[in-house]
Amino acid sequence: MPTKKANSLATLKSAIYPITLYAEKTSAVYDQNGIKIGSLNKGQTVHLKGISKGHGIIEYLGQSGYVDLANYYHKNLVNPTKSVTYKAYSYYVKVFAKLYPEFTSLEKIGESVEGRAIYALRVGNGKKEILVDAAIHAREHMTTNVVMEMIDNYSYSYNKKTSFAGYNVRQTLDTTSIWFVPMINPDGVTLVQNGINSMANKNLIKQINKSSNYKRWKANARGVDLNRNFDGEWKYVPFTSKTYKGYKGPRVFSEPEAQALKAFVERHKFKSDISYHSSGQILYWFNFQNSANYKRDLALTRQISRVTGYSIIPPLYVRGSGSSADWFIMSQKKPGITVEIAPYAGEGPVSHKHWNNVWNKNKSIGLLASKEASKR
Ligand SMILES: [Zn+2]
Repeated sequence: MPTKKANSLATLKSAIYPITLYAEKTSAVYDQNGIKIGSLNKGQTVHLKGISKGHGIIEYLGQSGYVDLANYYHKNLVNPTKSVTYKAYSYYVKVFAKLYPEFTSLEKIGESVEGRAIYALRVGNGKKEILVDAAIHAREHMTTNVVMEMIDNYSYSYNKKTSFAGYNVRQTLDTTSIWFVPMINPDGVTLVQNGINSMANKNLIKQINKSSNYKRWKANARGVDLNRNFDGEWKYVPFTSKTYKGYKGPRVFSEPEAQALKAFVERHKFKSDISYHSSGQILYWFNFQNSANYKRDLALTRQISRVTGYSIIPPLYVRGSGSSADWFIMSQKKPGITVEIAPYAGEGPVSHKHWNNVWNKNKSIGLLASKEASKR
């Protein structure tokens, strides 16, 4: 018969994403019945094994200890040098929210076709807000790494009251908060990263793709390109057949992922939207703004261009893209900038060899956009 101790060790072994944390102050450790079994001193290291009912589970003297994560801080949580999966990211955002309840909040803003959660995490206490989102296109999932690494670094600096990339992080984010949506298309990302057998809609996806290459997939789990499904003058977007990219959907906002982002935007008054994509080291920003907004939006785009070195796409005067950023520009009358982070990778994900370069160019962009929004 397994003993209690054997049970708790089994829990310990099941930890999938090892995380090292540090005690912010002397803090108590409890057993699963809430009885205090010890305490940790300030600065002591713990290994987080999971979260249960709002408490962190740590390894403590060979058994599971339960702690209040708000008494701990992290130094480096996300490993951005490899693909960040849906499961990893959704665990990490929960950990950040538990570590730093005083300046973050986590919201589930919707679900994908296959029922995967779409999360938004706020960092900062500023009354003004901006939106930074990623991975609406499945194969462009390196954008999730960019956003998760921003959360990792900005929350560390906020907590430690240090600067990051030349910004006073606490002052910046306490004027304008950032809401991060790291993975708008979790089904598509899971298909690209883990293959067809990870999907519930296997047969439909096989039919739509007409190829065994799923690395090229951009759409959601029923073959709708989410970045053609928004009302960025959707009616002008030509109909195509369902395929791995480019199909705009049967109706505008027909897809749950697009509906989730729309409703989330409409509950807020975001000063800008930085929408991360990965194809071409370029910046899109124009969607028939009036002249005052044109100047404002181009000025912000130029700031981003100066830091990243990405080229600014001049106004193309083409009506109708169905993209989330074009819808944002039209509906919110605020800048919606599409940032393409990497050299064109062809029909597949960006190679990890580009990561350091991508991160160096983009690490300050959330703070840059936050600061710019503070002035208006
Ligand atoms: Zn894209």
